[in-house]
Formats: sequence, structure tokens, C-alpha cells
Amino acid sequence: MNSFTIRRTLPPAAAPIPLINIFFGVIGLFRGKRAVADFEQQLRLFHQVRHCRTVSSGKAALTLLLEALHELNPERDEVLIPAYTCYSVPSAIVRAGLKVRLCDLAPDSLDFDYQQLEQLLDNPALLAVIPTHLYGMPADVARTRKMAGTRGVYVVEDAAQAMGGVWNGSRLGTLGDAAILSLGRGKAFSTVEGGVILTDSKVIGRVVDRKVDAVAPCTIAGQVVKIVYAAAISLLVHPLLYWLPKSLPFLKLGETHFDPTFPVTGFSGAQAGLARNWSSRLSEFRKSRNKKTVRYAACHGFPLPNGLLSPPDLIRFPVLVQSRDIKRRLLGNPELQWLGVADAYPDSIDGIADLDTGSKPGTFPAAGNVARRLLTLPLHGFVSEADQNRIAGLIREVEQPRNRV
Ligand SMILES: *Cc1c(COP(=O)(O)O)cnc(C)c1O
Repeated sequence: MNSFTIRRTLPPAAAPIPLINIFFGVIGLFRGKRAVADFEQQLRLFHQVRHCRTVSSGKAALTLLLEALHELNPERDEVLIPAYTCYSVPSAIVRAGLKVRLCDLAPDSLDFDYQQLEQLLDNPALLAVIPTHLYGMPADVARTRKMAGTRGVYVVEDAAQAMGGVWNGSRLGTLGDAAILSLGRGKAFSTVEGGVILTDSKVIGRVVDRKVDAVAPCTIAGQVVKIVYAAAISLLVHPLLYWLPKSLPFLKLGETHFDPTFPVTGFSGAQAGLARNWSSRLSEFRKSRNKKTVRYAACHGFPLPNGLLSPPDLIRFPVLVQSRDIKRRLLGNPELQWLGVADAYPDSIDGIADLDTGSKPGTFPAAGNVARRLLTLPLHGFVSEADQNRIAGLIREVEQPRNRV
């Protein structure tokens, strides 16, 4: 896969950190806790919720949130997630000492099969269910909440890929009992790494506060590394330089692993500094990505998954091609790789060898089907109209889009 080719190369996703923010990162390092508290307060006001806390990553946020919910309801220790999602999600559940349970997706969708969900929610051991806005595709959190509320199951919204997203007039990340966001690389907005816990519940908020206050802070050395890393990324994400990190196999770009041993530490002043002007930067990213989303859908005829008619705030454009074979052919085309067309997660969650989900592999046919057929098109600011035309043309050579708009 990794060939050393020097040429214009687009990353699959990019939310670049401007160089001036490297400077703000250094200032944040000196401001420390005050910088973190200011950022949390801004996020809280933006989402109109009572509680907002930041930690080292999205998975750390999910771990601490689930630990808090388990403390509030110690009788229950199972967490229900979509059978196709980011591997960080089962990693965080195991890290919190809880058990992973899976629900299949609806066919040709990235959201739950709601009939199956209804049955799986009738489980007295179930602590929480995690509707997920994969690539920003809004899951029907209200529907899940209606079903879960009567059964005493918490709804945790995984908005890791949906920061700033709005659907039907509601801000994603505010629709469940609590939510997490990710500020990692490749997400809607990035501080290199970082995670956010949001909740409007005073009860949950109080336990989360105690958990977050108890984690080890990010060290000064760790903060310096993050600033240097941010500077490196802000240069190397550029299409004229991205071939370099893409050619270095030890960076493992785009790879996801199941691994419950990740660090759970505090967010840092340096990262809060890197986030400076986040709401206007995020809004610029959204505008630019949305323009490209509309072009893929309207001009190039790529249907939106979940049967959506109007385009949501996406960070990558998910495309379900006709078969595994076609996906392999497309991803094997070096030109499409250079254009930032990328694989989604390689397998459904039941296919993870080291993970016990209490169900046999292959019990989630729709999730397996999505894993075989899903790839993503880039939407970030470096993607030009010519790039979009070329991507659409190369895909069309291999398969005809079905329902042309
Ligand atoms: C990235 C991601 C996470 C975890 O966030 P990190 O900051 O990478 O730990 C969780 N859920 C989903 C859907 C994600 O895409």
C-alpha cells in the first residue's frame, strides 16, 4: 500500500490548525487550567448544556462517561452499540470494565435496525445505548431515546465525528442523556487529540466532574509534544507534502485498532490554545465541506446513506458501492488513493478477534455488508471541484451510481 511517490496527495480528512494557533498553543501551555476552563465554558454555551468537560481523547471521554453512568446504576454492566462503528468505541467500553453488546444496522444505512434495537433494549443488564453519527450522518437519537427511556437505559450520543453538526434544527451532541465529541486528527475539528463530555443532567454532570478531576493531568513534556505535533501536521496535511506521512508505514495513518489500554488523562492548556477561534474555524470547515457534499450528491449523483434527502454536516462522504470486489478495485487504484478516497473501518465489530460481544460472528448481516461496501470521499478544504469531478469519473468507470438525483 505505502509506495514512496512524490506527487500531490489529498488526505481523506483535514481540519488544519493554522500556524498562528501554534503560538496560541504555547500561550495556553502557560495559562494551564484557566485556558482549559475557558474552552469548556465556550463549548458549554455553544451546546446549551449544563456540563462540559474535556479530556485526552474521545475514547477517554467515553470511558469516563460510562464509568460515571455505571456508578449511578451499578446493577447494569452492558453497553449496546452499532455493529459497525469506530473500534475506539468497544475499546472504551472494555476499558470502563463493561461488556460490549451489538445491534445490527438497517440495510444500506449507518444507523440502527430499530426493530432489532427494540428487542435488544429489553435487557435488565443494559446500562447504555450509543447511537452514533458516523462521518456526521445523523442517527435518530430521539427515536432511540423514546425506546430506551421507558426501560431505564441511558442514551449516550457518539458525536465524535459530528462536532458542530445540526440536524432538523437540533445541535448534535445535545440529543441524548449525555454525549461525547472527539478533537482527534481526522475529525470535524482537531486539537491533535482531545475528547469532550457533554450532558444537561446535573446528576450525571456531578459524577463526571469528579471522575475528570481525578485523572492525571497532561504533563508539560506531553503538551510540548502536542504543540510540535500540531505544527508538523499543519504543514504535512498540505496536498504538496501529504505524500510524505502517507509513505511512512510506522505512522499507521488511517488504521484503527481495538485496544483498551489507551491513556486516560486530562486535556491541557496547550490544546485549549490550539483550539483558539474554534467556533469560527469550525463554521468555515462546515461551510466548505457542505458545499462539496452537495456537489457529490447533486452533480455527481452519489446517494446519501440512511435515505436522507437533504445533506447533513459530513466530515467524509460515505459511499456504499455495489460489492466488495468493486470496493477493492476502487481502493486499489493509486489515483483514487492520491485523491483522498479511503476505506472505512475494515470490519464489523463482531469480527474483532480479541473482543467478546456475546454473539456469534456473522449475526449482523447489514453491518458486515456495510463493512464490505463502504468507502469515503474527501470533503475538506484542499479538495477542488476538479478533484471531485475526477473522483466521480473514476468511480463511475467501475460502477454506475444507482439512484441518480
Ligand atoms: C474517533 C471516534 C471515537 C474516539 O475518539 P478519539 O478521540 O479518536 O479517541 C469514538 N467514536 C467514533 C465514532 C469516532 O469516530
